[in-house]
Amino acid sequence: MTIGLVDVDNTSFPNLALGKIARHHKAIGDSVEWIDPLFGGGFDKVYMSKVFTFTPDYDYPIVADEIERGGTGYDIHKALPNEIDRLQPDYDFLGVPSDTAYGFLTRGCPNKCKWCIVPIKEGKQRPYMDVEEIAIEGRKNLILMDNNVLASDYGLGQIEKIIKSGYRVDFNQALDARLVTEDIAKMLAQVRWISVIRFGCDTPKQIGECNKAMQMIDKHRKNPASYLFYTMIGDDINEDYARLSAFRDNKRVRLVAQPYRDFNNPNQIIPQWQKDMARWAMRREIYATCDFKDYEPRKGFKCKEYLK
Ligand code: SF4
Repeated sequence: MTIGLVDVDNTSFPNLALGKIARHHKAIGDSVEWIDPLFGGGFDKVYMSKVFTFTPDYDYPIVADEIERGGTGYDIHKALPNEIDRLQPDYDFLGVPSDTAYGFLTRGCPNKCKWCIVPIKEGKQRPYMDVEEIAIEGRKNLILMDNNVLASDYGLGQIEKIIKSGYRVDFNQALDARLVTEDIAKMLAQVRWISVIRFGCDTPKQIGECNKAMQMIDKHRKNPASYLFYTMIGDDINEDYARLSAFRDNKRVRLVAQPYRDFNNPNQIIPQWQKDMARWAMRREIYATCDFKDYEPRKGFKCKEYLK
């Protein structure tokens, strides 16, 4: 069979589901290729993956006997068949560097934050894979996409294993600072991080939790770590302003700020103030030196206008 794949989102992040599909079909002797928008015909089967609800759909013609669409952007409840899901992605096909692997140790989350899609999509937390299943082909840099690894004894056991094996890791969906105890901080201090330690900071209470977690981790390290906090920008500009401003004096903290996305509303319009606040927070040189009120995203307009 000839199989065509379409990564509808087309971001720089590798589409791991398509990578697993590629590995599966190659293993059973099929030929697999990315679809060229100019030549979208002649396939027995085409898989289209769309992760984000807000990504526009692929609108080039495709000629194939069968087209299968998957990913949260098409259907939040659709999952890969188990025999494909358990595979590791075909990293050569995805163009991933030879030292890097991606995966999940756990799936799901025990919490139900009202803005988050994880509880709906993945449900309760459960063990998913062992780190040794993920670190294939001698890959030592592991990008782990667990949603709340610290909430699971299995996840904590896997982190101990990661420390012993010497893998370098990035929990790229962030850790939950509320769960960092002295013991966990000591453990996290021993991890070889690829770059930063990421925490979520979506509520006012989490400011204190993040500061406490950093302090505890750094106490057990030779050198203080670098941190990256994911911050959601909601609909209360004063609260968002206060929370996002809380780390301006800490040079080791960078923010990723994202306006709230309503997954049920693909036509959602993001207010300009949220876009300006996100840009201010994520440009470290602006964030560190300029209060949001004084930030001038457009000539003659200062963001203090939003806060009146
Ligand atoms: S803790 Fe994180 S993953 Fe879990 S529901 Fe809340 S935001 Fe989502």
